[in-house]
Amino acid sequence: MSGFVKRFNGLLDLVLQAQCPLCHRTTAAAFCQACQRQLQQCQLPNPAWSQEEQLPVFAWGRYSGALRRTIAAFKYENKPHLARPLGEWLALAWLGATKQATTFTVVPIPMHPTKQQQRGFNQADLLAEQFCEQTRLPLQKQGLSRSRETTAQFQLSAGDREQNLADAFSLGKAFRKRHPTGSVLLLDDIYTTGATARSAAQTLRRHGIRVQGLIVLARAALEKDEG
Ligand SMILES: [Zn+2]
Repeated sequence: MSGFVKRFNGLLDLVLQAQCPLCHRTTAAAFCQACQRQLQQCQLPNPAWSQEEQLPVFAWGRYSGALRRTIAAFKYENKPHLARPLGEWLALAWLGATKQATTFTVVPIPMHPTKQQQRGFNQADLLAEQFCEQTRLPLQKQGLSRSRETTAQFQLSAGDREQNLADAFSLGKAFRKRHPTGSVLLLDDIYTTGATARSAAQTLRRHGIRVQGLIVLARAALEKDEG
């Protein structure tokens, strides 16, 4: 199926069935009330930047429970329309935590083209579209490109992951033409070990582009930051 057809089917799914993606109850909203409550419980109490290894990270929620199931449905059960509520929540949390009106260029972490073709969409692109619509920040989907297919990360040890991701990215065609004026905010769906985001940030920094940090919908629990 082409990306367009997949996205179109996702929309049809939304319009015709209007089912909660988690429990399949009929609902007019993105989620039924019970699942919405469960999702809200996954939100971090005070979303803020936290300094991780080489890269500050801003997350909306914890990668567990209903949020984990929602992200799985979004990515693996062809529900691209879930990007709207999820991207909006992320934007509202970020706006609430951001004092100064600095303009950042938002760059979603790209997927390898083959993988993206299989899925029909890149979840980070869709989240970034919603995030930028709410925050009015400029979006640049061509800031980075994925230059190499990487071995599935979960099969590797932590050291091998870093190696696997070294040079996984290259500068995208938009930034090859012209660098952004200010700093870049990277955006992805989840943050686990951070290896992917660090690799992406390193690629930009190597080219003299400043990276403010990474914005994610969900981050793995701090005490078991794996996977
Ligand atoms: Zn539900």
